[in-house]
Order: sequence, then structure tokens, then C-alpha cells
Amino acid sequence: MTGPKFLQIEAWRGERKIVHGFGTRQEGGKTNSRKDWRGRSVGEKNEIFPLLSLRQVHGDRVVYFNGNPRGIEEIWQTEGDALLTRTPGVALGVFTADCLPIFLYDPIQGAIGIVHAGWRGTAGGLAGKAVEKMGEIFQSKSSNILAALGPCIGPCCYEVDGPVKNAFLSGGFSWDLISSPRREGKWLLDLYRANLSLLGRHGISEKNIQVLKICTFCHGDAFYSYRNADKTGGRQLNFIALRKE
Ligand SMILES: [Zn+2]
Repeated sequence: MTGPKFLQIEAWRGERKIVHGFGTRQEGGKTNSRKDWRGRSVGEKNEIFPLLSLRQVHGDRVVYFNGNPRGIEEIWQTEGDALLTRTPGVALGVFTADCLPIFLYDPIQGAIGIVHAGWRGTAGGLAGKAVEKMGEIFQSKSSNILAALGPCIGPCCYEVDGPVKNAFLSGGFSWDLISSPRREGKWLLDLYRANLSLLGRHGISEKNIQVLKICTFCHGDAFYSYRNADKTGGRQLNFIALRKE
């Protein structure tokens, strides 16, 4: 059995202090879910990182891992959709099948974060809350934070309805900026733009944000897509880790 291939952000290849990857389908069609990954590690042979992942609930809770090894099991049992740490040697992971995975990295304070952003989390301002929390816990300045947005269901395919629109309006988003009308009562939502606007509101400049624009729905051969009638329950694992010095 071979593992999934991971995609990387070209502009981050020079960042020697971190390791990251946006996951794809498990080769051989094997499902690749959170429970399959529990207790496992990511990375290469001579450099492996025990994986940490929250119970994702499409909420807006940000959780901090303080590095206590006994806390690892607790993280797996904790509900939340964004996870932060300054501890080197562990990988933060989120599992996605259309939702947007976001990595945050502060090279000055040596801190990382990961966000699971579907429409609910995005409308609830989750990535912005993660940035604020990095400021509180690590004294990260938002002007120093780098962000990377990975594969998700694209604005070509993500049809949503009125309740989703209302949630974004309540969250202070410009609906015209992040969506386009499709037919009566239906819109195409752009999760990239929504999160770019959210990160921008929290002080992250666009030049510090990398976007890997790949639609998981259009590329169902390479990615699990919940909306693309994928009933296997498979998920992409996306991870980021700080290297040990
Ligand atoms: Zn698409």
C-alpha cells in the first residue's frame, strides 16, 4: 500500500523551518479518513511527525496544543476546526473533501496553525479567529503571518442557497464579492475569495497569501469530493509541521 501524494506550495519550498502538504486521494482507491490516520505519523523516513487532528464539527472554535505529549490523545477527542501550536516535531492536520484547508505560519514567532474552512466556518470568521488567537498566544503580528489556501470545491461548482448567503451577510462579507448568481435563489460561492477577504480584514496582506486553486469537484479523480457523489467517506489529509531545530 502506498500513501497519498501531497501537493506543496511552490513559494514555501524555501521555508526550511516547516513541512507541509495538501493531500490527494489514497492510491488504490482505499479510503483515507480521520480514523484511518489516528495514531499515525506523516513525513519521510528520517523525519516523521506524529499527527494531531481535532474532531471537526464545522464550528468556529480555535484550539491550542501546548506541546504536552500527554495532550495528544486529548486533541484527537476535542471538537474544533482550527488548531495552533508552537511545538516543533508534531504535525497539525485537517481532513477535507470539498472544504478548504488553510495553513498559517508565523516565521518570526515560530508558530503554525491549520484551519478547516467550509462555508459555515468561513461565514463564522474562523480563519480570522485563528489569526487573532495567534496574536494572543504567540504575540504573532498579522503582518508577519503567511497563509496558504489549498484545494477545495471551486467557484465553478459550489452552488449554495439563501441560508448560506444570509450566514455570510451576518458575518460581514460582501456577497457580491464572494459569489456569482446562478439561477433563482442559487449562487456559486467562492471559498477562496471569502477567505482572502476574511484574512485581509485581520491584517494579512494578499502578497503573503498563497492560493492553490484546484477544484476538488472538477478533479474527482485526484481528490475526494463530498458533493461529487463520493460516498466512500474518503478525505484528503492536509498537514503542516514545524521542524525540530
Ligand atoms: Zn469545479
